[in-house]
Amino acid sequence: MTRTQHIVVGHLYPSYLNIYADRGNIAVLSARAAWRDVELEVIAISPGDPTPAGVDLFYVGGGQDREQALVAPDLALRGEELTDAIATGAAALAVCGGYQLLGRSYRDQAGVELPGAGVFPLHTVAGDRRMIGDVLLECELEPGQPRTVAGFENHAGRTILEEDAQPLGRVVAGFGNDGVSGYEGCRVGRALGTYLHGPLLPRNPWLADWLLAQAIAHRTGEAAVFQPFEDVLEAEAHEVSAARARSRGGRF
Ligand code: GLN
Repeated sequence: MTRTQHIVVGHLYPSYLNIYADRGNIAVLSARAAWRDVELEVIAISPGDPTPAGVDLFYVGGGQDREQALVAPDLALRGEELTDAIATGAAALAVCGGYQLLGRSYRDQAGVELPGAGVFPLHTVAGDRRMIGDVLLECELEPGQPRTVAGFENHAGRTILEEDAQPLGRVVAGFGNDGVSGYEGCRVGRALGTYLHGPLLPRNPWLADWLLAQAIAHRTGEAAVFQPFEDVLEAEAHEVSAARARSRGGRF
């Protein structure tokens, strides 16, 4: 069967950055695309590989300092290509370690300064205490459509947004970017960075659909309108996670 629509995901460093089963996010994107007759092609990008042309959505997961150090120089070399792709409408989702490395730099727990790709206007410095726990955010990716995002964070890095940077959301419960600003994540155009694992998308299906719609808009130049699914299990997962965040979200 030929599917009506085809989109391409560029998955950066799947064998290095995949903590907390972050690859589950790709499984969600791929299933929800297939249910809508959209074919999602996933291209793995390893260190040394050229950045493929025509990527509609870049994805990078989380990882420990050790894995981040292994891929950071390669990712920094792609900084201009990634920044250009996003400036011309490609979508992206970057989680935790990947989010940090799409910023300008990450100073890890050992004090080593890792170069970033410079896609997001922010930098990250590791602190002594890890920020661990369930998180609940409020965000408004489309004006007038407030939504919640639930997930789990575990990071030593404190991410500092530059003055004009747009956060992904406001922290309702949990630590977020740095434990003090009340903000979580970052958004540049159709690119999102966040500390939330879980993986993120199974319990926030509206966000998976938003990302798919952005990828289709990049491919076709037209906004994609999806019929919503019932998402009964997904809504339950979101509620369980949100309730955990409200009752014992990360705090020092
Ligand atoms: N190494 C980073 C930190 O602790 C990222 C960890 C992660 O991806 N969970 O800040």
